[in-house]
Amino acid sequence: MRTPMPADESPSGGRKVKFKNPDTKLWMDRMAGKGWTVPTWPQECGGAGLSSEENQILQVEMRRIGARTPLIGMGVTMIGPALLEFGNEEQKKEHLPKIARGEIWWCQGYSEPNAGSDLAGLQTRAVLDGDDYIINGQKTWTSGADMADWMFCLVRTDPEEKHNGITFILFDMETPGVSVRPIRLISGMSPFCETFLEDVRVPRKNVVGEVNNGWTVAKRLLQYERTSIGGGGGGRQRARPLHETALEYVGSENGKLADSELRHEISRQTMNDRAFALTVRRNMEESRSTQAPSFVSSMFKYYGTEQNKSRMELMLKAMGTQMLGWEGDGFSDSELTDTRAWLRSKGNSIEGGTSEVQLNIIAKRVLGLPD
Ligand SMILES: Cc1cc2nc3c(=O)[nH]c(=O)nc-3n(C[C@H](O)[C@H](O)[C@H](O)COP(=O)(O)OP(=O)(O)OC[C@H]3O[C@@H](n4cnc5c(N)ncnc54)[C@H](O)[C@@H]3O)c2cc1C
Repeated sequence: MRTPMPADESPSGGRKVKFKNPDTKLWMDRMAGKGWTVPTWPQECGGAGLSSEENQILQVEMRRIGARTPLIGMGVTMIGPALLEFGNEEQKKEHLPKIARGEIWWCQGYSEPNAGSDLAGLQTRAVLDGDDYIINGQKTWTSGADMADWMFCLVRTDPEEKHNGITFILFDMETPGVSVRPIRLISGMSPFCETFLEDVRVPRKNVVGEVNNGWTVAKRLLQYERTSIGGGGGGRQRARPLHETALEYVGSENGKLADSELRHEISRQTMNDRAFALTVRRNMEESRSTQAPSFVSSMFKYYGTEQNKSRMELMLKAMGTQMLGWEGDGFSDSELTDTRAWLRSKGNSIEGGTSEVQLNIIAKRVLGLPD
């Protein structure tokens, strides 16, 4: 568990997942046993009840020994934090411990064929029938829907209102009427799906927050998502520093990287990465009293994903054609992982809201500029 995660292994947990390497499962279970898959969550929710300082130390130490993340996915980074904030006691008790133990894989039913950046234009309809909602509509780009056990979904409960007619609801993907069709992704790593909802009957008690007030929950969840995609100052950074990779593939001259232009670019990238990590850290310390993210998450999402893309481009410059392999003996496992990571990085500035949308949010909500 002290080597980079292979491309075909992903510790996302869930009912359908078969772990290729049993150690991955063992590592997840051991960490879950200590509450360290979600260290800051309360113990009764499956966490370890650590303060953010204690968690910082834990993360630094884990990175120092090169340990793999024990559990990833939308459960720990998105729906879990949203439930902690908006879920009722019954919902927290039902879902959070299962997320912490990696038993349930969650997917996100936000985007629709005609509602991406303009998410509040979504049309998937939920109509109350006794104690259940009947849901009809289509979601798209649903990452991992074919493997997921549960979906958190945005539905329209009032067609007369836009933002104030949306409700946030949870359902099991095994519910009759839910079907998924995978869409192949360029990286081959994370297929996303079209998700069709046809007369899906969901208990009213699965609504998170209030009916027609789902936009509030949805926005907060997006802030958690953006913080996580942005990398939180290092989450997505490769364990091995760029300059080490460059030295291995390009070689050195007089103790320096042989390609002076690349050396300059890597220095600049590394300084910016470091400055970004410190800014994220400062923001965490400043917002410790509130704990929850804010619109500032858009800044981190924007900058972190653009940095991640430029870091991957520099790796490509350094590794050359060794980072363009897809399969075969000519490439090591870690090179094949890097190729897929490079391709996957392209989606970073689209998922969770595009870079252009983040710039709009920063302009309006952070800087207070007029429309
Ligand atoms: C890897 C990946 C995983 C994803 N996973 C999920 C998932 O699990 N669940 C889910 O619900 N969705 C998911 N998505 C979808 C994602 O949220 C949408 O792709 C994204 O919100 C953009 O919407 P769109 O694709 O409809 O593009 P559009 O909204 O059609 O945008 C097209 C272009 O127009 C620009 N644009 C649009 N509006 C504005 C504006 N007002 N100002 C300036 N520029 C604008 C955009 O920046 C973009 O460049 C995923 C996407 C990717 C790439």
